[in-house]
Amino acid sequence: MYRNFAIVPKIIFGRGCFNQLDDILKEKRDDNGYMVFIVDDVFTSGPIEKRIPQRGNDRLLYVNVDDEPKTTYIDELVGIIKAYGLGLPDGVVGIGGGSTLDIAKAVSLLLTNPGSATDYQGWDLITIPAIYKVGIPTLSGTGAEISRTTVLTGPEKKLGINSDYTLYDQIVLDPELIKDVPKEQWFYTGMDCYIHDVESLEGTYINEFSRSYGEKSIELCRQVFLDEHPDRDDKLMMASYFGGMSIAYSQVGACHALSYGLSFVLGVHHGIGCCIAFDKLEEFYPHGVVEFREMMDTHNIRLPQALTAGLSEEEIERMVSVSLGLAPLWENCLGKDWQTIMTPDRARQLLLKM
Ligand code: NAD
Ligand code: ZN
Repeated sequence: MYRNFAIVPKIIFGRGCFNQLDDILKEKRDDNGYMVFIVDDVFTSGPIEKRIPQRGNDRLLYVNVDDEPKTTYIDELVGIIKAYGLGLPDGVVGIGGGSTLDIAKAVSLLLTNPGSATDYQGWDLITIPAIYKVGIPTLSGTGAEISRTTVLTGPEKKLGINSDYTLYDQIVLDPELIKDVPKEQWFYTGMDCYIHDVESLEGTYINEFSRSYGEKSIELCRQVFLDEHPDRDDKLMMASYFGGMSIAYSQVGACHALSYGLSFVLGVHHGIGCCIAFDKLEEFYPHGVVEFREMMDTHNIRLPQALTAGLSEEEIERMVSVSLGLAPLWENCLGKDWQTIMTPDRARQLLLKM
């Protein structure tokens, strides 16, 4: 069976294209309606805030992403919007990095689908189309702008709401928005993209569709992280998009599986967690890891070490079980017999190195 998947139908790309947001939203506005802008609170009172095209009853909701998105946070935000007493909004616009883009996706889904975000963590559990939504990345690498998932931590699991309804209706890719990202964050989130490419290209699920996107994305990552280019922000933004398209039809692999374990137990953020895990996976991705270290050297990045030292037996077991629970990622990396290769003990040994 070949997967038949949806992609984002409308995309605008280019420096300064954020200025066209007002026009884009105009055609979606109802006379008495309103838009909700969900914005990373790092932009509070900054220049981006002044450029957000708020009209009439529009609401601006700042979100905090010190912790990666939790299902409880989504439920809370949906409650806030419903309490406005204005009915459902005409649209939800997410402005920020992968966390904020995921929050805006989830909020727009939960405004129309009853219950808690926790109820929909999984595959194709959403049945009602979401509110019209627009995604505007201010940090590039995750591919959240193009993916059909929103990664959420619930009480029991860290798992996305995966569905065709999760996709943005419109994305606005303006490379000017990522120019002020602090260097380390720029690197970690950029490496998320590089690792998506390596895991996709080296995986057993690879096909020409994924390879075509993955090869272009990894080439752009090399230009961004190993060379010097005046238009590196444009390149990274497109690398993120292409990396997301590549994994859409293949899968990520061992690094993401292990980093999910790290993240669930230690709250380590996605980009840095992937870097910490990838650095210890030379046996699975020999060329990728060597090149990754070259990129770290080029940008003087030092990763935290020995994160898992001193964890309790129970915490390690939880990490192993979260990681090994991600069967498709392991199958992509190691093939159908992955369970004979990646035993709980081997996963534990890898995690203990991190
Ligand atoms: P992030 O959104 O968590 O943001 C990291 C930090 O950068 C935050 O402090 C934020 O305030 C700051 N920031 C964002 N834009 C900035 C800017 N322009 N200038 C200065 N600071 C800025 O980071 P991320 O790495 O983009 O996203 C990670 C999240 O994405 C995780 O929650 C992860 O689970 C999720 N993710 C989702 C997908 C998907 O397909 N949906 C894929 C990969 C990762
Ligand atoms: Zn990732």
